[in-house]
Amino acid sequence: MAKRIFLCAGHSKVSPGYVTREFREFDLNYEALKIVSKRLQKMGFEVIELDEAVYDLPYPQYLTRRIEIINETHASRRIDLAIDLHHNSSSSVRANGSWFIYGSESGGQLSRIMAASMQSIGHKARDISLEELGRRLGFIKKTHPVAVIIENAFMSGSVDKLILRFARGLLYNAVADAIADSLNS
Ligand SMILES: [Zn+2]
Repeated sequence: MAKRIFLCAGHSKVSPGYVTREFREFDLNYEALKIVSKRLQKMGFEVIELDEAVYDLPYPQYLTRRIEIINETHASRRIDLAIDLHHNSSSSVRANGSWFIYGSESGGQLSRIMAASMQSIGHKARDISLEELGRRLGFIKKTHPVAVIIENAFMSGSVDKLILRFARGLLYNAVADAIADSLNS
């Protein structure tokens, strides 16, 4: 049976996350969602996308509502992996690369494979636990299925800014492949 993935774009239209002169984080997250979803479906995965109406909600409702929907869905149709797609920021332009953030042991296994998949094509990537991150993220702590937050790239990074400006479609396709690798292993 096809593995079932629940996919969300981080933040919302009215609470867009990190904003630069060039991009709003939510817009990038949403673009990533569409590309990742399409590629995973092409590869045979069942993808459930978060209801569009949730993207109209402000913080923290957009977060609590998505967690409720994921848990309701999981109760009737087992979700193998829930993913929230984000973009990172840092005060250092030297911070670049994709981060795969997890809470549970099984989330850690998947995140390690995703990071290794990105590294295998020469991209900077790491897996990182909530403990190491020093944050309690509701999307990971409160969802019942295994959940991973993907920080696709640093909107503030010198290298990642170029990727986001000129080649983000390639990045998001590579992230989709990394997700597929982790679920196929
Ligand atoms: Zn974010």
